[in-house]
This record gives sequence, structure tokens and C-alpha cells, in this order.
Amino acid sequence: MRTILDPNLKDTRRGAIAEEALRACVHCGMCNATCPTYQLTGDEMEGPRGRIYLMKQVLEGAAPSRLTQEHLDSCLSCRACETTCPSGVSYHRLFDIGQEAVVAAVPRPLFERLLREAIRRVTISPALFSHLASLARTFRPLLPGALRGKIPAAVPVGLRPAQRHARTMLMLTGCVQSAIAGHFNATTARIFDRVGISLIEVREAGCCGAVSAHLDARDAARTQARKNLDAWGTFLDQDVEALIVNSSGCATFLRDYPDLLGDDPHYLPRAQRLAGLVRDPLEVLETLALVPIRAPRQARIAVHEPCTLQHGLKLTGRIAQLLARLGYDPQPVADNHLCCGSAGSYSLLQPKMAGRLKKAKLKALNASAPDIIFTGNIGCWMHLSDDAPVPVRHWLEAVDAVTAP
Ligand code: SF4
Ligand code: SF4
Repeated sequence: MRTILDPNLKDTRRGAIAEEALRACVHCGMCNATCPTYQLTGDEMEGPRGRIYLMKQVLEGAAPSRLTQEHLDSCLSCRACETTCPSGVSYHRLFDIGQEAVVAAVPRPLFERLLREAIRRVTISPALFSHLASLARTFRPLLPGALRGKIPAAVPVGLRPAQRHARTMLMLTGCVQSAIAGHFNATTARIFDRVGISLIEVREAGCCGAVSAHLDARDAARTQARKNLDAWGTFLDQDVEALIVNSSGCATFLRDYPDLLGDDPHYLPRAQRLAGLVRDPLEVLETLALVPIRAPRQARIAVHEPCTLQHGLKLTGRIAQLLARLGYDPQPVADNHLCCGSAGSYSLLQPKMAGRLKKAKLKALNASAPDIIFTGNIGCWMHLSDDAPVPVRHWLEAVDAVTAP
């Protein structure tokens, strides 16, 4: 598309990213076919082509309205449109710039601002989140519907192996995950220990920053990113082999640190180095000779592939392949590319759309009557767990179950 950016944006790094995406878009509309919000509404402005058009107008200097903001807010940032686009439009890079411009120009109503900030503050503080999660579990029946299903039952963390191998990798501890799903990290550490790799958790590194970025606080996300880069600095300088991130949403965001810190010449080189080291555990484990020592007790499974795993990390189909190698029987899942509605804080901010997407996703996952559903992202696990008729677990728990001595 012919694009004439606002003079304030033109000739900037962000302007170059936006211009590249806008020029690449030929307005064919093929992306609408896989966009969850377009599929549910049939509204052009609720699909990627319409949103790109809205962002183009804003970045060319037009004043956005509250309606513009609402159309961008209803985007899940699932990136299904990127996978579909034949022109290679990097929608998410454009969206980060377009949404920030709209947020700066259109003040949100007070309640919305307070709600977003409250969600952000609770989510990025593991101690506070953990405390509130305990209360929520105790008083679950009294909670409002949108919150009631968000806190799955507590799961024992299990043993954490000692550091004993010469081969080491970093592991992201995370914010929400360390607060209510510590077993994800402990399970990951045990599996890697079994294949001769000790995982190092650096406590000073916390939330990846995605929560803040998605809740209108990109400067806070940048501050968090710098803090993480400082915390991992020694390891980055010593050429650590990889940073293992077992939640695909966090991994996708960490790979975008160079965009987030693109205007910071001091931190950019470290951000680029880190982005190249981020690995989903799958990318390491599938290269190793993992040997099951027993057959799965419940082999019939459905794998829920988070959008960030499919469209961000580009690992579609690979969890099921690994689990099949270990003796599981993954069942086909219809419309696998469609988002479950979790999308970070989306399910709290857009509960109606998120609820419809969750219902459709659970129907697809349960169509083959699996014994268990496996996923690979903390947010999807929380979102799907409550309403699923069978247990929802992290796929690493499936690996652990057949390889643990
Ligand atoms: S498929 Fe790609 S080129 Fe076509 S409208 Fe969507 S983003 Fe633009
Ligand atoms: S990111 Fe997802 S919800 Fe947003 S426009 Fe693309 S496909 Fe639609």
C-alpha cells in the first residue's frame, strides 16, 4: 500500500518498521480467513486488514477515535494473520507501534485505566499474585464469573534437581508461573537434568515484560527488560548456550526484545544476543535421544498449541511429534490455528469474545475424547483448565511422566 507517514514518525526506526509492514500489505484480505475476531464478527474492522487500514490512517497523521482504539483492543495479538499472509506482513511489529500511538492519543476512561493498571501490578508481582491466588482458591464460589475460572487448583511442585552438570542453560522463572505453577519450572529442570543439562534460574530476572507491554505500559516493559538483561548479563557475557522458556508467550516476547529496546543503544546489543538464545524446551528436547522408560498411563491426548507457539515461535505440530515418539497418541484438533481466547490479559478485558473462543477451542480439543489436554503456555493453561472436562497440563508433564525414574 502506498504510505506517507506522519513527518514525526518518518525517518525513525519505528517509522521504518511501520512503513515496511504497510507497504508490504496488498490489501488482499486473505488474513481475514484465519482471524478469530473476524471469524466471529464478520466485521472488516475486526479483522487484520481493517486494523492495518486503521493503523495506517493514524500513522499517517489522522486523529484516532475511541472506536479505533476499541477495534485494536479487540485484537488478540495471536498472529494467525501473519502465518496466513502471503506477503509476509509483520502484523505484530506494526501493531506494537500503531497501538502505542492510539493509546497516546486517546485517553482511556478512568475505570479502564485503573483496571488495566490493577491487573498489571498484580500479575507482575509473584508474591502478591500468589497471595491473591490462595485467597481466590479459598473463596472461589464468591468470585465474579470472569475471575472464578482463572486460578486452577494448586499442584505440588515436586523435587528440583541440584546443579550438577557441566552443560548448563538459563531458565526464565516467570511471574505468574512462579506464583501459581511452580511445578512447570521444576518439571522442566528435572527433565533437562535427566538429559545432562542443569538449568540455572536467576531470581533477579522476573516477568519478561509482556504483561506491561500489553496493558499500555511499554515504558515499564522496557524497564523490566533492562532489569532482566542486567540479571542475566554475566551469563550472556560468558556465552551461555541458551535461555529456556517453557511458556511460549514469554519466549515470543523475549525474542522481540530488540524491537522493544531498539532505541536504546546501550541495551540493544545485549537484547539482540538474548533474543538469539531464547529456546522453547521443545527445541532442545526434540534433538536429544529422550528414551521413555514406561508407557503412558493415559496415552490418548489432545495437544493445545498456543498461538505464540504456532505463529510466534513457528513450532506447529512439533509437541505432538515429540509426544508421539514417547508413546502418546495425539488426536487431531480441528481449527488448531484459532486462539483459545486467553491472550495474556485479554480474557479479563474482553471476557465475551474470550469466552466464545474458549468454548469453541474446548469443543475442538474434546471432540476426540482425550484423557488429558496438554498445552505449553501458562495463560492458556489457566484459561482452559476450569471449563475443560479433562485435566489440562503442561506438555512437559507428559514427558516427565514417561521418563522419570
Ligand atoms: S493477507 Fe497480508 S497482504 Fe493480504 S490484507 Fe492481510 S496483511 Fe495485507
Ligand atoms: S493478531 Fe489475531 S486477532 Fe489480531 S488481527 Fe491478527 S489474526 Fe486477528
